[in-house]
Amino acid sequence: AYRADEEYDYLFKVVLIGDAGVGKTNLLSRFARDEFSFETKSTIGVEYRAITSAYYRGSVGALVVFDLSRRVTFENTARWLQELRSHTDPNIVVMLVGNKADLRHIRAVSVEEAQAFARKEKAFFTETSALESINVADAFTGVLTQIYHVVG
Ligand code: GDP
Repeated sequence: AYRADEEYDYLFKVVLIGDAGVGKTNLLSRFARDEFSFETKSTIGVEYRAITSAYYRGSVGALVVFDLSRRVTFENTARWLQELRSHTDPNIVVMLVGNKADLRHIRAVSVEEAQAFARKEKAFFTETSALESINVADAFTGVLTQIYHVVG
């Protein structure tokens, strides 16, 4: 667990982006505090809220999140990646994250398709469920491990 007063050897800025409602808040709360909330926030439906370049500044990693059960959120990752690339260093480590893997019965994006897109974008790909605690820690630590390699 991370505590602000603990000593650390490295500090990396990693951004979480993707459409509203894909689960960014819950992925972070699951990873940081092992908490999950069923509540939907008021931001749902507000796609592409204005993000200033200050949000991206200095980031060396990104989790680009989509909802495996809502195909449009997968399609929109292309635009999120575009925005990310226009504000960050080309060496930024990107993890494409298909969240809500627990919603198997209404899945709308195949592993193969997501993987092929990630490969094309030179990104890593993983599937997570913040609800069922699947792969969440691996998604974050995967990015951090890769950053560590890049930073050397
Ligand atoms: P954000 O807008 O990207 O930050 O998304 P939130 O974290 O607020 O989540 C939006 C909604 O999706 C909430 O109702 C969450 O309970 C739900 N949610 C988040 N992650 C998952 C998940 O892994 N599985 C399921 N079934 N629902 C999730």
